[in-house]
Amino acid sequence: MTTIDKTKPVMVTGATGYIAGWLIKQLVEDGLTVHAAVRNPADEKKLAHLNALVKGTNGKIVYFKSDLLTPGSYAEAMKDCELVFHLASPFILDVKNPQRDLIDPALLGTANVLDAVNKTSSVKRVVLTSSCAAIYTDAIDCLSAKGGILTEENWNTTSSLEYQPYSYSKTLAEKKAWEIVGQQSRWDLVTINPSLVMGPMLDAKGTTSESLNILKQIGDGTMKSGVPEMGIGLVDVRDVANAHFLAGFTPTAKGRYITSGYNTNFFEMALALQPKYGKDFPIPKNKLPKWLLMLIGPMVNKQLTRKYIKNNVGIDWKADNSKIKKELGISFRPMTQTMEDAFQVLVDEKILLPR
Ligand code: NDP
Repeated sequence: MTTIDKTKPVMVTGATGYIAGWLIKQLVEDGLTVHAAVRNPADEKKLAHLNALVKGTNGKIVYFKSDLLTPGSYAEAMKDCELVFHLASPFILDVKNPQRDLIDPALLGTANVLDAVNKTSSVKRVVLTSSCAAIYTDAIDCLSAKGGILTEENWNTTSSLEYQPYSYSKTLAEKKAWEIVGQQSRWDLVTINPSLVMGPMLDAKGTTSESLNILKQIGDGTMKSGVPEMGIGLVDVRDVANAHFLAGFTPTAKGRYITSGYNTNFFEMALALQPKYGKDFPIPKNKLPKWLLMLIGPMVNKQLTRKYIKNNVGIDWKADNSKIKKELGISFRPMTQTMEDAFQVLVDEKILLPR
């Protein structure tokens, strides 16, 4: 049982991020003081959407300069905090050097943040943003899970530096966190393991998250000849923020939490946008056959290797989200609302233009 004093500041790493923005919104609306760890506190443009969140609330945001790869750089931000939300980690799929661009910031960054936790006596709980990517690599992994459904018991054993390095980075980072927490008893660790996060961006033009790229490709014609029926899980960013919040402040929260609203696939995600946006935007209407994808996929997108297509396309993705519903009382928004609200932001911000 861990009780957090809400009069004390709480820390959020990667505060400029897509998910972090919604978490900070919830925290300041609850009247909390947020110690926001960012790479560049002087970048007013990048922080404008966060500063706007504070208006009309009793909450406060104080910025600190921190970098995952700079040892000791989280110490100042963590001072006096009982609760640390560690979200910072690159979520990019197209990288030149996976070790430098993904593994190091995820793994060394987690060790760096948790080293500061070990040295900061006020900290009682860390909520780490892991991922379903630390649970599986390919949809085909569901078939070897008990009953064909992924649970918190499953770990990703099939990703590597060469194959799905982002998933590998999340797996290594979460394992490291469990190893570090196990060496002491002052603070506890709760992990939030979201599937693909979708839903509105608070700073669409500044978002680096891969979530935005995926949505853009559905709406900008890249996939107009068809979309692969690739099994994945989907969850609303506002529900992921709420999951973090509840994981932080629920005294009995414990272990890993699969945070996924729907077992779905890319084709269904596109279909959800058809009724409202299909007339004005080139939203795909058809599935791209697996054989065709095998033929052209590797040429159009370097992530679409034959192995990836074979292990994901036409295979159902199934995960059990009952633990978080039962223990943290979470409910998930309908998928159409998530997709439409996200798409509408891209339309409003003129990131996608009607044809
Ligand atoms: P974003 O790209 O929006 O956020 C990533 C954050 O990490 C940014 O604030 C970025 O800072 C920060 N960051 C990256 N590298 C460094 C570094 N070297 N030092 C300090 N900060 C750094 O992605 P999301 O909001 O989508 O992701 C947040 C977390 O959620 C990540 O841990 C990701 O793995 C996880 N996740 C995301 C999912 C999704 O579908 N979006 C699904 C499951 C998990 P800066 O703004 O300065 O670049």
